[in-house]
Amino acid sequence: MNFDLSSEDQAFADAVSRFAQHRLAAGALERAHSPHYPWEAARMLAEQGLLGIAFPEADGGQGGTLMHAVLAIQQVALVCPKSADIVQAGNFGPIRTFVEYATAEQKRRFLPDLLGGRKLISLGMTEPDAGSAVTELRTTARAEGDEYVLNGSKIFSTHSPEADLFLIYVRFGPGLENIGSVLVERGTPGFTVGKPASFMNGEQWSPLYFENARIPAANLLLGPGGFKKQIAGFNVERLGNASRSLALGRHAFNIAREHALTRRQFGRELCEFQGLQWKFADMWMKLEQAQMLLYKAVLEGEHGLPSAQSTAMAKLACNEAGWFVANEALQVMGGMGFSQESLVEYCVRRIRGWMIAGGSIEMLKNRIAEGVFGRSFPQRPPKAP
Ligand SMILES: Cc1cc2nc3c(=O)[nH]c(=O)nc-3n(C[C@H](O)[C@H](O)[C@H](O)COP(=O)(O)OP(=O)(O)OC[C@H]3O[C@@H](n4cnc5c(N)ncnc54)[C@H](O)[C@@H]3O)c2cc1C
Repeated sequence: MNFDLSSEDQAFADAVSRFAQHRLAAGALERAHSPHYPWEAARMLAEQGLLGIAFPEADGGQGGTLMHAVLAIQQVALVCPKSADIVQAGNFGPIRTFVEYATAEQKRRFLPDLLGGRKLISLGMTEPDAGSAVTELRTTARAEGDEYVLNGSKIFSTHSPEADLFLIYVRFGPGLENIGSVLVERGTPGFTVGKPASFMNGEQWSPLYFENARIPAANLLLGPGGFKKQIAGFNVERLGNASRSLALGRHAFNIAREHALTRRQFGRELCEFQGLQWKFADMWMKLEQAQMLLYKAVLEGEHGLPSAQSTAMAKLACNEAGWFVANEALQVMGGMGFSQESLVEYCVRRIRGWMIAGGSIEMLKNRIAEGVFGRSFPQRPPKAP
């Protein structure tokens, strides 16, 4: 057993770090406070080969590993937290499910712009009445000739105000076995991207409405029975969420550490107060613990998609560690930590959202408990006899 990165992985991480320092450090605060996607940075990352890192070269990817993608998202986040969203969008988000299951023709149509940092794909899974209970989704897709007709609505989709392509979970009929997904392009008649609303993390989302929206049959991604495959792809999205939670915790930690080394009160540096030293000891330990669970899940996913159990443990650990550390870092920084002059408060707000997105921490614990007992625990009430 070896807890160090391989020399090749370390060299890759160092190269991404140097690129981020050189190209992304300036403007990190400004990007974080803009509600918009950082398109300019997206094109820089695309040119640098940081989109599609683990995708096959035949698909326009870099042919790297999931570990490379995780190292990249973390190194970028350590310099410019908002730019890590670009690495997420180009490697871990719905694009990952798309690359796994799309036809050659679908890839030809959509991947060049997505991997070029010129367009975004957004995931429409959650509905007003289907959140954690995602299989209760009601958006329907009815086959009619060589088209599907969509009706329903979606909420909370990341990047929805600026995305061009939407991966939409739909049902083709009743029951779990009839759930699948389709691709919907912005501008499709009957498909409306509503007025943007804001999350407390500064991100915006638009409600999505489908009123007899017609899409070509060629836009089918996964037909009936596709739900399990979709969720398998979604496990990679969860690792991106976990990686950013951890990296933003570390980002806040690094700022607070510098602050504690230089800020003086009562005639001495903050780091000389034991009450703060113990906070740093706790913070560091939690970061290191979560990092191990993250790498374990990543290595398991190196040859295919990561397992649901390891992903749940990694995401839970990284969400909780990131949140604890960023919040403590804010406290150590005093008023400066609470001010938008530093990125610490931004890290706190962003990590908070990831404890809900991509499987809330409660739903992750439900999943982990199933592994503990080797049983499934249906969350729905038993049917009346
Ligand atoms: C920042 C952010 C980004 C998001 N991005 C996307 C996106 O790109 N695409 C998309 O489709 N959706 C997205 N979402 C939506 C997200 O997937 C849902 O918010 C999440 O699944 C929870 O659903 P809900 O908000 O309806 O809460 P609910 O399901 O109503 O849950 C409310 C609370 O009850 C708890 N709870 C529910 N059921 C159980 C249970 N069985 N056991 C224990 N506790 C339970 C939950 O954990 C939560 O704390 C995003 C959300 C956020 C915050």
